[in-house]
Amino acid sequence: SGKWARVIEILKAFEEDCATPVAKLRQVADAMTVEMHAGLASEGGSKLKMLISYVDNLPSGDETGFFYALDLGGTNFRVMRVLLGGKQDRVVKREFKEESIPPHLMTGKSDELFDFIVEVLAKFVATEGEDFHLPPGRQRELGFTFSFPVKQTSLSSGTLINWTKGFSIDDTVGEDVVGELVKAMERVGLDMRVAALVNDTIGTLAGGRYTNPDVVVAVILGTGTNAAYVERAHAIPKWHGLLPKSGEMVINMEWGNFRSSHLPLTEYDHSLDLESLNPGEQILEKIISGMYLGEILRRVLLKMAEEAAFFGDVVPPKLRIPFIIRTPNMSAMHSDTSPDLKVVGSKLKDILEVPTSSLKMRKVVISLCNIIASRGARLSAAGIYGILKKIGRDAAKDGESQKSVIAMDGGLFEHYTQFSESMKSSLKELLGDEVSESVEVILSNDGSGVGAALLAASHSQYL
Ligand code: ADP
Ligand code: MG
Repeated sequence: SGKWARVIEILKAFEEDCATPVAKLRQVADAMTVEMHAGLASEGGSKLKMLISYVDNLPSGDETGFFYALDLGGTNFRVMRVLLGGKQDRVVKREFKEESIPPHLMTGKSDELFDFIVEVLAKFVATEGEDFHLPPGRQRELGFTFSFPVKQTSLSSGTLINWTKGFSIDDTVGEDVVGELVKAMERVGLDMRVAALVNDTIGTLAGGRYTNPDVVVAVILGTGTNAAYVERAHAIPKWHGLLPKSGEMVINMEWGNFRSSHLPLTEYDHSLDLESLNPGEQILEKIISGMYLGEILRRVLLKMAEEAAFFGDVVPPKLRIPFIIRTPNMSAMHSDTSPDLKVVGSKLKDILEVPTSSLKMRKVVISLCNIIASRGARLSAAGIYGILKKIGRDAAKDGESQKSVIAMDGGLFEHYTQFSESMKSSLKELLGDEVSESVEVILSNDGSGVGAALLAASHSQYL
C-alpha cells in the first residue's frame, strides 16, 4: 500500500543521511586531527577542549599499597578499594560496590549529589576487612574518577566546565569538584585524602597501560563517549608550565563535543539535540553513545508511526515518551537471530505496548538499528584513526615494529556486539591491512577504577 511505500521511503532517506562511506570517515578523521591541533594551541581554540590532565607519568607497575577509587560518570557510580602489590603481585585484592544514581539527583543541587555519593562511600569504608590493613595514623587515600569536562588546576583539583549526559546541576559548574567531594566528606566526618582527580578516559588509559605497555589511547563508549591519549608535551602550545621530565602529557580530548560539517546528521539528530539538556553541545556524543542511540531509533519510529501508520491507525502513546527505548533494548533487538524476530516482537510489545507486529515491520526495526549502530561505530573508528594520525601511528614506519594499543571501556562497547565489531572492522578499513597488524583494540574492563587507584598510589602523600 501507499503507507508501506512511505515507510520504506523514510527508511531509505534515513539510511542515506546516515551514510558513512570510507571517504567521509577520512574527512571526519582529518577534521578531528585539525581540531586536536587547534584545541592544543589555545584555550577555547576548538570545540575539542583537549584538557591537560596533569598526568605526565602512566603507571609503571611498581605501585604498592591500599587505595580507594570512586567513579562518577553516568548511570552508575562505583566505589572500590584495591590492594596493589607492585611488579610481582600486581592487583592483590579488589572490592567494589555499584549503585545507580537516583535520576532526581542528576538535576538537583550539588550538595545533594555529593552527600549521596559520600554516604555510599562511607558505608563502603565501614565494610573494610582485615585484608585491607592501613598502618596506624595513616590517612586513607582516594582516586576520584569524574567523567565530565573539568579544567584541572593540578592533578588533584579542577573546576567543572559543564555537565553532560543528562546531568545538569547549576551550582556545581565552576566549582572545584574535589572541594565539593571533600566538603561532603567533612559533613559526615569521613577522613580521606583525594590524591588524584581523573577523567574516566585517563583512568582507562592508566589502567590499560598497567596491563599493557603499548596502550597509548583510551576510548570510552558507554552512556557518553570520550577519548584520551598520550601527547608529547612540546606539542601542547597552550601548556605554559614546566616541561615534564617524561616529555609526555596525557590529554583528555572531550571528543564528545566534536562537531564538523562532515558529520552525517539527520533531522532526528537535530531535533534530539534541540530538545536535549545541552542543545548545541556534545554533537558527536549524541550520535555515537549509549545514552542516545535508542532515542534516535524512537524518533525514526515515531515519524514512521505518524506519517506512514507504521503501527496502525493510532500512534502508540508510549512511543511519544523520550528515551523510552534504551540502547540495551535496541541492541537486544539488533542481535535477534530468530527466524520470526521474536525478540523484536516482544520488545515492541513490552516497551511500546504494540500488541502485534508483522515480520516485515520487525525487519524494518532491525534495519534502523543497523543504520544507527553502524553510523556510531564507524564514526568512533574515524575518531580513533584521527588520533592515530595526530600521533603518527597511522602508517608503517621503516624498520620499526611499534605497536599501538587502544584501551576501550564502557557498556556500549562491551555489550553491543554489532557496534564493537563494526567499530573494529571500520578501523581496519581506515588503517589498511599492513598498519592494522600493529594496532590493537582491547577491552580494558573497569580499567578506569583501577587506573584511578594507581594514579592515587603514584601521587600518595606517603611516597
Ligand atoms: P557509564 O558510561 O554510565 O559510566 P557504562 O560504561 O557501564 O557506564 O555504560 C553504561 C551504558 O552502556 C548504558 O547507559 C548503555 O547506554 C550502554 N549499554 C549497557 N549495556 C548495553 C547493551 N547490552 N547494549 C547496548 N548498550 C549497552
Ligand atoms: Mg563509566
